[in-house]
Amino acid sequence: MPLLLLSLDDTLLDRAGAFRAWAAEFLGQIGAPEYDLEWLLSIDADGMNSTWDVAEGLRGRYGLRYSALDLVEEIRQAIMDRIRLDPLTACALAIAEDSGWVPVVVTNGESRQQEEKLRKTGLDRYLADWVISEEVGVRKPNPRIFAIAAERARMRLTNAWMIGDSPEADIGGADAADIRSVWLHRSRSWIETRYAPTRTADGVIAAIAEAMASR
Ligand SMILES: [Mg+2]
Repeated sequence: MPLLLLSLDDTLLDRAGAFRAWAAEFLGQIGAPEYDLEWLLSIDADGMNSTWDVAEGLRGRYGLRYSALDLVEEIRQAIMDRIRLDPLTACALAIAEDSGWVPVVVTNGESRQQEEKLRKTGLDRYLADWVISEEVGVRKPNPRIFAIAAERARMRLTNAWMIGDSPEADIGGADAADIRSVWLHRSRSWIETRYAPTRTADGVIAAIAEAMASR
């Protein structure tokens, strides 16, 4: 039985879409020009930057009266309200499980937030387990986090696949852990020269199919 490791944000769940929808609405409310959307997306960096930095960035640029704490709460809640599990993604996970794959999420982030996303979307029902960096004290690309995921599932890391959208965290991490990977390109080109994904796919369903076809 092979282990199927998956990133959470922008792999199994469309965090970018949820953030963008909130950002466009928020900028409209405060009367900011539409082109500021690209700036706001860039300071969020797909959630790689802290929500506190995004809140401070907004306060600094627009002189907002909201406290940073209120803004951080608003952003987190907005993402939680908008994030959904695509039923076809759920279906692909179920098919993989039926064929003997063991899906485990490996995600960088805060435990409370990531767990809430898993439960609220119902994704938790399609996973054997999940590992959240805050809880284990190790972040991708540190290969130790993949070893922890394998231990949790009581499986060997050998023959595992990692599916993710982040070149460094997911693919660099898989390379360091010496496992195969599928990179979700999200319309980006691969530029890293130190390592490369085993396969590239345009979505998580295609990525799961790639891993399954490898056996
Ligand atoms: Mg991700």
